Amino acid sequence: MLKVTPILCRPREMDNYAYLLTDEKENVSAVLDASEALPVIAECEKQNINPKFLLVTHHHFDHVEGNILLKQKYGAEIVGAKADENRIEGLDIGLEDGDSFFVGSAMAKIIAADGHTLGHILWYFPEEKMLFTGDTLFNLCIGGLFEGTQEQMWQTLQKIKQLPDDVLFYPGHEYTVYGLRNLQGEAGEKYKEKAIARLQQGRPVAPMTLGEEKQCNHYLKADTFDEFLRLF
Ligand SMILES: [Zn+2]
Repeated sequence: MLKVTPILCRPREMDNYAYLLTDEKENVSAVLDASEALPVIAECEKQNINPKFLLVTHHHFDHVEGNILLKQKYGAEIVGAKADENRIEGLDIGLEDGDSFFVGSAMAKIIAADGHTLGHILWYFPEEKMLFTGDTLFNLCIGGLFEGTQEQMWQTLQKIKQLPDDVLFYPGHEYTVYGLRNLQGEAGEKYKEKAIARLQQGRPVAPMTLGEEKQCNHYLKADTFDEFLRLF
């Protein structure tokens, strides 16, 4: 069982989420996308945890800036895409599409996700039914195309669409509020209600299920590449 604690970083500026993951069976922890060191250290101290790994979805500074300090403090290894080995400072372990990586007993499958950047990866834990999407998929929207093409992002989203509906997904930023006004229909109303309730409690909207997202996120709802292109 993987315990997930979201850690809000850069609040009111970029609203990043770092995630503290703990495999409770073997008591091994990792931090995914350590945007900043201080809020991550505060949470680790609160939970009395020494993270063993620093997992990375992509090279952007707001997803890696805490890494070096955390690596020094905890002796943790930095794990990210091999394709980003020259852009992720201090990378210890480089992974490729289809590779597996274990956080204790919890196995992650690496899914290549070109689009937002080239070399972006998704961390998918099939047994735990959890997906960490970085800046590829957000609640009700997707990441900007900084390096990849629309075609590449489309292909990446098709991979996400093939994953089971009951998978919980955890994005790299809290951007839900921007998509709420575009929600339609019964599924949309339910999504909106749930999202607003969580935001009002000061909680992240994540996790939603991929099933909910497939019904409500226009970029996932697009059935053809042409339909997808009309959203830009
Ligand atoms: Zn990014």
